[in-house]
Amino acid sequence: MAGEPVPSSVEVSARMSRLPRRDTGPELAARRLLHAAGYRYRVCFPVPGAPRRSIDVAFTRSKVAVFIDGCFWHGCPEHGEVPMANNAWWAAKLAKNAVRDRATNEQLLADGWTVLRFWEHTGAEEVLSRTIAVLRSREMLATAPIICLDEDTRSYRSGNQAPRTIDSHQLML
Ligand SMILES: [Zn+2]
Repeated sequence: MAGEPVPSSVEVSARMSRLPRRDTGPELAARRLLHAAGYRYRVCFPVPGAPRRSIDVAFTRSKVAVFIDGCFWHGCPEHGEVPMANNAWWAAKLAKNAVRDRATNEQLLADGWTVLRFWEHTGAEEVLSRTIAVLRSREMLATAPIICLDEDTRSYRSGNQAPRTIDSHQLML
C-alpha cells in the first residue's frame, strides 16, 4: 500500500485536514494544567535513539514520556474510525501508526523511560492527576520497589526493577 493519500472527495479531504496531529487542544489544556501545577517539561522532545519521533510532553529528569494520542490517528476504540473513502489505504495507514506507537514505547522503555499514553478524549484534569502520580512514583523509585500495570500482560507485578509500561490508555493508579 504505497503512495500518498488520495481523498476521493473534497469532503473527505476537508475533514482530514481538520484533524490536528500535534499541539491539539487537549494536549495544550493538559500542558497548561501541568505548568500551572509547577511542573516543567519539554514539548515535542525527540525520542532517544529515534530522533524523528517525538514525545508530546517529556519530563526528561524523571524520564516520564506523556503522549496525548489523537482518537483518529491512533485508533481510539471509542472514536477511531476508518474512513469509508479509500478505506484500505486508511486501514493500512492507521495500522502502521499503531505499530509505530508500539515501537516508540519499546524504544523509550529500553532507555528507562516510563510511557504514559492518553486518548485526546481524556479530560485534562485526569491527564494531570495521573501524570503527577507517575512523576511522584518515579521520584520514589530509587528506594522503593513499585507495582505497575504491564501493558502486554495486563497484569500487576511487583519488583524492584524499573517500571516497564504504565498501561497506555487505561492507566489504573
Ligand atoms: Zn477517543
